[in-house]
Amino acid sequence: MKTFYIKTLGCKVNRYESDGIATELINYGFKKTKTMHDAEICIINTCTVTSKAGMQSRQAIRKITNSNPSSKIIVTGCHAQIEPELIKAIENVDEIIGHNNKFHISDTINKSLPIPNSNRYNDTTFKSFKHLVKGEMTRAYLKIQDGCNSYCSYCIIPYARGKSRSMPENEIITNLKQLYLNGFNEAILTGIHIGAWGLDFTKKSTFSRLLQNIMMEKTIPRIRISSIEPNELTDDIINFAKDNTRLCDHFHIPLQSGDDEILKKMERPYNTKFFKNLIVKINKKLPRVSLGIDVIAGFPGETRDHFEKTYSFIKDLEISYLHVFPYSPRKGTKAYEFSDKVDISEIKSRCSFLRKLSNEKKNEFESKMINKNFKAVIQTKRDKKTNLLKATTSNYLSVLVKGENDLKEKIVDIIPIKWDENNKLYGIVN
Ligand code: SF4
Repeated sequence: MKTFYIKTLGCKVNRYESDGIATELINYGFKKTKTMHDAEICIINTCTVTSKAGMQSRQAIRKITNSNPSSKIIVTGCHAQIEPELIKAIENVDEIIGHNNKFHISDTINKSLPIPNSNRYNDTTFKSFKHLVKGEMTRAYLKIQDGCNSYCSYCIIPYARGKSRSMPENEIITNLKQLYLNGFNEAILTGIHIGAWGLDFTKKSTFSRLLQNIMMEKTIPRIRISSIEPNELTDDIINFAKDNTRLCDHFHIPLQSGDDEILKKMERPYNTKFFKNLIVKINKKLPRVSLGIDVIAGFPGETRDHFEKTYSFIKDLEISYLHVFPYSPRKGTKAYEFSDKVDISEIKSRCSFLRKLSNEKKNEFESKMINKNFKAVIQTKRDKKTNLLKATTSNYLSVLVKGENDLKEKIVDIIPIKWDENNKLYGIVN
């Protein structure tokens, strides 16, 4: 039996795709190893969203080529797609596979055929894994869309993943049913630009229509949306979460800047007034909602004044946490050519201000949730430090509770009751 190891960098879509590659290899009779040292085949699924992510991807490749040079080393993912020449320069890499062929890795290894070394993407990058087996994961990711047509001025993703493509609705429903049969109680719908779902079909559909149809089918008890653009988070979607507890009251929304001039330069299709109204509206309809937002610090031309506007804009928003990204110039994007770059040390300092603000927002949000009752999915793995069970509520609180193993993977009622000094939330099973 041949053995393989997969190292994944980057986003949830990449993780989902690594699971897909692994599932296919296991179906062919390969065995997955926990460490790179025991594997005959090592696959590195890379990321290119920032130059740091690209560098970390190359570091991960080097670590494997140095530690296990006799294994067959295959590199795939976004960095392999965008900058294969940087990977070619690393000794002992056997194959570089673009997005087009990443799901043929199992076929080609299995049949001992040479892997087609293409760095172009097409529709074969979109694949479902009906057979996704239940491993150690409690909540399943389902990739329903890939690619993006928006070309925001800072973003390399459309170049790495191509045009928007959607999984057909009937396949999504079948997959959700299958995931439920395989023991999952929560599925996270994921994609690169999920709000564009259905717009590529000859007979166009929309993401909110898809959600409506998912809600009508008896599939998995709980659905979460991974991330959605502000202008695509429609009233319908907010109302589904209000009227149907199957859709989690948790939205992750990219803001990117709290200054209209910068948003325009980023080519984002909304302004701060729109964003603020959206956040107010969601909070009114869903009083316990968790709202996470993405923000980029140090976009070219972002002055102190622009940054301060962003900071106070976010401070005034009723949100729960931030994901903070330092701006990273990516060759091939429009912003790469902008001349008014912000100094790296200034970008770092802006990021740390925003991360502090994120902690404040998180504490503020969690303090409001103490002593309230929630439905939560109990995770498969216990908390390493305390050995308590980990419960994830529909509004994305992570709460540690006492309980026996038979609660694992079930949906139970819990009540968060206190924090500790490490900002961990503790609760009881109700
Ligand atoms: S940031 Fe813009 S271009 Fe990049 S994936 Fe999102 S919508 Fe598409």
